[in-house]
Amino acid sequence: MWQQGWYRFAHALASPNFGPRPVNTDIDLVVIHSISLPPGVYGGNQVQAFFTNCLQTSEHPYFESLRDIKVSSHFYIRRGGELLQFVSCDDRAWHAGASTHAGRTQCNDFSIGIELEGLEGDAFTQEQYESLIALLPMIAQQYPLQHIAGHEHIAPDRKKDPGKRFSWRFLQQSLGWPDHFFSACEESIR
Ligand SMILES: [Zn+2]
Repeated sequence: MWQQGWYRFAHALASPNFGPRPVNTDIDLVVIHSISLPPGVYGGNQVQAFFTNCLQTSEHPYFESLRDIKVSSHFYIRRGGELLQFVSCDDRAWHAGASTHAGRTQCNDFSIGIELEGLEGDAFTQEQYESLIALLPMIAQQYPLQHIAGHEHIAPDRKKDPGKRFSWRFLQQSLGWPDHFFSACEESIR
């Protein structure tokens, strides 16, 4: 199912924005994000372009603010459920930024980032949940997962994604994962 951190059923689109993880790191956290470019516009190729340093900043005024920003995530799930992968899960993608989970900083070191095409405040599609709910157990088979959280939970003063309309409760019920996996997002589940 996996080859050197690349998931067989994801469409691979390699990003140069990654680095090695610290040695002997247990990859035990999944971070859920949302993104769309321009914000709230779905269906284009701009997110893929952004994560591969190919975004044409002249295309839209908003893109000017992204000039020279180098980021990536491991996975990206589009509105129709299509799954893309930019970085091997064995490597460190650049999705979380300054962040803290359960007292540990630099979440990129020990996490896998999953971006959902979306916007804080928007709901996500059934196809996206289905894709996510299929992917997460595959990750858990390959890596010693212990936790799942939103970007908003690990960088609460900077970030609001995936946002209030992401259903953590539905995710937990669908996965059947125990409460301790969701300890960082308790308030979002209630
Ligand atoms: Zn995010």
